[in-house]
Amino acid sequence: MSDTPLEYDALVIGAGAGGLFTAARLVQAGYRTLVTERLDRVGGRASTHDIDGFKVNNGAIVIEIGGITEQTFTELGIPFPVREPKPPILYRIKNKDVDVTGGGWGMLIGQLTRQGAKLVSGLGAARNDSGLPEDEISTADWVRKFTKNEAVHGIFHNMCGSIFAVGSEDLPARVFLTYFTRKSAFKRFGFCPDGTIGVWQALADYITGNGSDVWLNTEVTGLQVTENRVTSATVRRDGTDTRVNVRVAVSDAGPSATVGLLGADTLPADYVAEVARKDRPCAMIAVTFASRTPLIKASGMLSFATTQRLCYIANFTDLCPEMAPEGWHLYVGTAVPKPAIGDFDEAAETELLMADLREQVPGFEQARILSTTITRDGWPPQRAVAGFDLPHDTPLDNLWNVGDAVKEYANGGTTACAETAQLVVEKIRAAVPVATGAGDPA
Ligand SMILES: Cc1cc2nc3c(=O)[nH]c(=O)nc-3n(C[C@H](O)[C@H](O)[C@H](O)COP(=O)(O)OP(=O)(O)OC[C@H]3O[C@@H](n4cnc5c(N)ncnc54)[C@H](O)[C@@H]3O)c2cc1C
Repeated sequence: MSDTPLEYDALVIGAGAGGLFTAARLVQAGYRTLVTERLDRVGGRASTHDIDGFKVNNGAIVIEIGGITEQTFTELGIPFPVREPKPPILYRIKNKDVDVTGGGWGMLIGQLTRQGAKLVSGLGAARNDSGLPEDEISTADWVRKFTKNEAVHGIFHNMCGSIFAVGSEDLPARVFLTYFTRKSAFKRFGFCPDGTIGVWQALADYITGNGSDVWLNTEVTGLQVTENRVTSATVRRDGTDTRVNVRVAVSDAGPSATVGLLGADTLPADYVAEVARKDRPCAMIAVTFASRTPLIKASGMLSFATTQRLCYIANFTDLCPEMAPEGWHLYVGTAVPKPAIGDFDEAAETELLMADLREQVPGFEQARILSTTITRDGWPPQRAVAGFDLPHDTPLDNLWNVGDAVKEYANGGTTACAETAQLVVEKIRAAVPVATGAGDPA
């Protein structure tokens, strides 16, 4: 342990989306903040690696435009590095790639079945609270009340997979309908030309450019608690442990890992039990592939109605040619395995995704496969299935969780992370005001 402890107003554990959104807001509010990230890069499950000049995302693919993510960038006064495809999404229905922009649910469902009127009115009714079903009904069961049409079920299934990383049988209908009738509902989104890491690097640059720190390859190995407050953290950097004294701590590592850093015996047993019970991560499979000839027409996302596992393909290079060497086109195809929660056969599920890609994408067999990633367990697409999140508050007075295990009801992905950051920083500002004399750097 190095001799002299370091002093920061705030410690943020983890440089994922949740951690960096939180740290940037704290810095703007005048808290001198240390972000520690145990990996060698920012972004966590929304980061990017270089493979032979291709920018290959390890997780998040599209970033929402026009919601809390972009709003955070605007509030920080930094450019939002995301390009928007128009139309954002095409749906492959009966072998045609259809643009339903502006036509809403009626137009989408009308393409799939002539008997969709009841389903469309069910969706309309959900705009009133009395039209929302009970929590126990899954999205698949709710759709089944209106239609047996397989393509309709396929579209709903793949929408659940694309946004919530579970199939329609695992997502409460109430969550799906709340999201699509009350939230921004990912209507606009885009890609970052640096790969998704570019979004988080911009936040990290804001943090370091305003007198705070982001330390990579640095793991928090323990949190010390006195009188129900985190007073310091043990931080391992370059093989040396350092004590960091803090007034506020925020964890982006997920509630289970946060409990581990504190020691379960320092926390009330019912909280520890709730964290264990709600630790139900889902899973996803993503195949990133490249081709010298264009393989799909959509310039954003292409979603499917009748696949076995393929939820959508994203086309990166139509808008962001920087993501591939000159002359190459870069894509990712994603799937939610069955089951999406708990154990599944990785080889069989990956093969079902590959079979869909071969069937749906002429030329896929000649494409170069850059990576096949299975995200699950401790590194999942969502730490909690939407609707089953933990609160971001903890039993300690100055410790909060952020990220996709503590999402607000019916939200998902990096958008949900941005929202947790906004809410938590509001709470921090009320509970632990910035130290007197600290200025607003922004
Ligand atoms: C295949 C896939 C596709 C996805 N597609 C999308 C999409 O298109 N759009 C979207 O918005 N979302 C998408 N998501 C979801 C999105 O990636 C996640 O919801 C989001 O990135 C989670 O961020 P987080 O901040 O909660 O956690 P994380 O990204 O996990 O960040 C936590 C960080 O904390 C670090 N850490 C943990 N413990 C410690 C410690 N003790 N000390 C220091 N550091 C520590 C970890 O290394 C990690 O970097 C996708 C995810 C996957 C896997």
